[in-house]
Amino acid sequence: MTVKLYNTLTKQKEDFTPLNGSEVRIYSCGPTVYSYAHIGNFRTYVFMDNLRRVLEYNGYTLKHVMNITDVGHLESDGDEGEDKMEKAAKKENKSPYEIAKFYTDAFFADMKKLNIEMPEIIAKATEHIPDMLEFAKKIVKNGYGYETSSAIYFDVSKLDKYPVLSNRNIDDQIAGARVDVDPEKRNPYDFAIWIKAPKNHIMKWDSPWGESYPGWHLECSAMSRKYLGEVFDIHTGGVDHIPTHHENEIAQSKGAFGKIPAKIWMHVEFLQVNGGKMSKSLGNVYTISQLEEKGIEALAYKLFCYTAHYRTKLNFTFEGAHSSQKALNRLRENYLKHKEGKEEIDDDIIDEYKKRFLEAVNDDLNMPLAMGIVWEIARNEKKSYKIANLLLEFDKVLGLELINSEEYLKKQNNVDVPEEILKLLEQRKQARLEKDWALSDKLRDEIKVKGYIVKDTKDGMTVEKI
Ligand code: AMP
Ligand code: ZN
Repeated sequence: MTVKLYNTLTKQKEDFTPLNGSEVRIYSCGPTVYSYAHIGNFRTYVFMDNLRRVLEYNGYTLKHVMNITDVGHLESDGDEGEDKMEKAAKKENKSPYEIAKFYTDAFFADMKKLNIEMPEIIAKATEHIPDMLEFAKKIVKNGYGYETSSAIYFDVSKLDKYPVLSNRNIDDQIAGARVDVDPEKRNPYDFAIWIKAPKNHIMKWDSPWGESYPGWHLECSAMSRKYLGEVFDIHTGGVDHIPTHHENEIAQSKGAFGKIPAKIWMHVEFLQVNGGKMSKSLGNVYTISQLEEKGIEALAYKLFCYTAHYRTKLNFTFEGAHSSQKALNRLRENYLKHKEGKEEIDDDIIDEYKKRFLEAVNDDLNMPLAMGIVWEIARNEKKSYKIANLLLEFDKVLGLELINSEEYLKKQNNVDVPEEILKLLEQRKQARLEKDWALSDKLRDEIKVKGYIVKDTKDGMTVEKI
């Protein structure tokens, strides 16, 4: 069955065929590691995970690159403001490299909690300076770059067409607002590919233009080209990347190699909060850890993301996230019931579900529709291990770790259990290991007096409030 993907470049859903046999080459714009990634950012990475998993489900192999931006991303996506890394370093009184390491580790820890498959290649900007410099030189050599007192700019007027990805009217406004920022710019839309470092800038490298550092857009162009070649299959990011970052990546690749670097450009709509923008200044930015503090697992947030198609806005509320947590627990319970089920289910019925699920995910990753099918089978009156197996197969795309349902449910049951009871449970576990049944019974009674009942199952102990 064909995978259909929406392409921002052509503004239509297209039948997907890789450029190179069964291998799909993907580049995803990764995080700028100057602070914790928020759940809005993670909506984009949950989408990235879905895309990977759907392609793998269809039998493709992947060569997927994601960058880590640890230099060159200025405060605005254009050319204004300070480097985000340097600003954070000053604020936290650390070096930009320490900041990058800390937030990169935090990002990977959250990715793991979300069970997001890691791209085959993780490319840090600071480890690719020579590739970037080569790319910038090529742009200048081909006549698309020019030097000013502050930067090397890309001259968009030299291109046959600009912009190609975004809406020109919007771009006019953005660029117009910036015209007076650098009077040395030849055209309002010109953007910096290489930036001359101010004296106090820590991250800088030698270049034909003195001590300087790469522009954010150039980083992605150089790293995608290095690992995936001049033209690859899919480029992903959030919708905010359409008018500037991706538009400028296209410009750079055309300037250096005369080609648009990716065939399909995919963009995720924003996660909003209370119907508005999620932003640090409004104080409505949440992290995965903050959700966990409120009893919402990272995987429940992933399930929450499946309530809307990736190309529509999704409004975050804690109420919605709590509902997703409950739904995830129900899905796990249903899976476990089916796992033990002995009732007969016709293979034709299973095949029909498989077909419908595949149709849904292959239709530009229609996760809400796919989840509807998942719920239909999970709630089936007949309890059958065949349904449990089917849920596990679908979980290759969902990535909800249904195989570990039992462990997750146990952890969930323990969420509200006081520390004191958990300690007694631990002592009882030890007593049972040592076959001290008298102590085990005594501890059980003690726990009961405190309002909790212990149940011994074949997989260990669970506890419930009386
Ligand atoms: P950044 O670290 O700011 O470069 O952003 C990382 C990724 O998150 C980019 O692909 C952004 O487009 C995306 N992103 C930022 N904010 C949101 C949001 N509220 N909802 C969805 N994606 C977002
Ligand atoms: Zn990028």
